[in-house]
Amino acid sequence: MKSTGKVTGIVSNLVTVEVSGPVSQNELCYVTSGDTRLMAEVIKVNGSQASIQVFESTRGLKNGNDVEFEGKMLEATLGPGLLSSSYDGLQNDLTSMTGVFLKKGEYTRPLDEEKKWDFTPLAKPGDKVEAADWLGEVREGWLPHKIMVPFSFKGEYTVKSVAPAGQYTINRTMAVLTDADGEEHEVTMAQKWPVKVAVKAYREKPRPNRIMETGVRVIDTMNPIAEGGTGFIPGPFGCGKTVLQHAIAKQGDADVIVMAACGERANEVVEIFSEFPELIDPHTGRHLMERTTIICNTSNMPVAAREASVYTAMTICEYYRAMGLKVLLLADSTSRWAQALREMSNRMEELPGADAFPVDLSAIISNFYARAGMVVLNNGQTGSVTFIGTVSPAGGNLKEPVTESTKKAARCFYALEQKRADQKRYPAVNPIDSYSKYLEYPEIQEYLSGIAGEGWVGKVEKAKNIIRRGKEADDQINILGDDGVPMSYHEIFWKSELVDFIILQQDAFDPVDSLTPMERQEYMLNLVLDICDREFRFEDFEECRNCFKEMINLLKQMNYSEFRSANFEKYREQLNNLLDNGK
Ligand code: ADP
Ligand code: MG
Repeated sequence: MKSTGKVTGIVSNLVTVEVSGPVSQNELCYVTSGDTRLMAEVIKVNGSQASIQVFESTRGLKNGNDVEFEGKMLEATLGPGLLSSSYDGLQNDLTSMTGVFLKKGEYTRPLDEEKKWDFTPLAKPGDKVEAADWLGEVREGWLPHKIMVPFSFKGEYTVKSVAPAGQYTINRTMAVLTDADGEEHEVTMAQKWPVKVAVKAYREKPRPNRIMETGVRVIDTMNPIAEGGTGFIPGPFGCGKTVLQHAIAKQGDADVIVMAACGERANEVVEIFSEFPELIDPHTGRHLMERTTIICNTSNMPVAAREASVYTAMTICEYYRAMGLKVLLLADSTSRWAQALREMSNRMEELPGADAFPVDLSAIISNFYARAGMVVLNNGQTGSVTFIGTVSPAGGNLKEPVTESTKKAARCFYALEQKRADQKRYPAVNPIDSYSKYLEYPEIQEYLSGIAGEGWVGKVEKAKNIIRRGKEADDQINILGDDGVPMSYHEIFWKSELVDFIILQQDAFDPVDSLTPMERQEYMLNLVLDICDREFRFEDFEECRNCFKEMINLLKQMNYSEFRSANFEKYREQLNNLLDNGK
């Protein structure tokens, strides 16, 4: 028996309901108003009073309207067909109706139920299986998509039968499993999972032990993110958060990408639909969209659905991770999500925390980031969810609660800076404030030595130090004037400019420069550090400036040329000549 209720109060999309029967926290429900049924979620229960947040506009809703509780939480539908799809936060399909918005109270089915998938069985009758074990496989694009024992199955089951190889739709029974009591359970290709509950379908979650290459030098060289790691990109509007995330999406070493776009402005939502499907995967030359799911909030949706979208996105990631794949989750921007939490909390008149955000904001953000990670599956294989979110702090204030809470939860911090963006020093990541805690992990240090040579982390430290000292020298030069400081100050400053222009700055729109493989990053950092190790004996600061400008110019040309191509070697030789003629 489902519980029911009647609407007793409405404040924007917060609706209070007098309920008969038990309802649970986060339970899904529908409010009937005229001939529309609006989806909603329970966010507070107090005796026979429930507060629900409606995922759509509540215009026209009245006291006394009927509410029906579903007895389950908001769920995501998981199965083949998720990739190359675009959904809103409630997993309504946005692919098939670009530009056309659903009418109020209309919800679509997330997966194509007619499409046939080429199935190959992986399990056989008699096998002992548990939740998330692989029963079979279909090809989704070029990725192997595992058909798994539903995550909701508890304990051990015995495979009674598995469908033979062939073409099937997602709702066909693909396997029959028998539980310990001898009861039979049918398994299809699609399963459901409550989005706000983490999928725990793995044996263990060890510490990340390798990095996820992104081809972006400020990340891979300076502050690498681990595979299965977490990072965040705070920055004011227009500093390049979206450009940086798209570069990571395009180039990151991942099998599956899930993009959760909580649009800052309406045109950005349009942008993601027009731009993302055009992006070409530089590794395969195919459309990036083939291995991407977009979760996007349409601009006519109230904030509550934005909150749901990050959870739906994470659940899809966990699903693909359980197949032994490397998944990359990008959320742009998580501030919108936090604002949704704030609006609801304020409407419920809860005691507010800092800046009127809910008191448990920090815990909510930490719990969400904790769902990322590298896992060892029951069969010993590994899968990972790497999570990078952007934060758009109002006025670029990094002391605001969302940034502070995220800082506690994420292990990499890529601070985009207005000043660098204004100077067109892209990506505008501040090299001094940013960090990656993974650089401190012994297993990551060892991994980096393996791919980039012994003592790599020491070299990275050295580069950061050059930047730091360069900034100090620059400050002194600004105060005392070019002639007021010793020559060495100019040299220190220009060495930091060399690191800045050649390692930190990278043109996201140049086909060569945008993507720097690790081997090339190693080569360039060694080259730059080698120059910085030299002691130049310049006559005056103008000679110093001119010499460094020339070097920067040649090294930039190298960055824009194919690695080790004739052009690349030509500029390298010119650089060598310059260095030899120098001192
Ligand atoms: P945000 O998402 O922070 O509001 P965007 O990512 O939209 O900012 O970036 C704003 C603009 O900055 C871009 O349209 C682009 O012109 C420029 N930009 C940002 N990053 C780069 C980059 N790496 N290379 C070149 N231009 C960039
Ligand atoms: Mg943006």
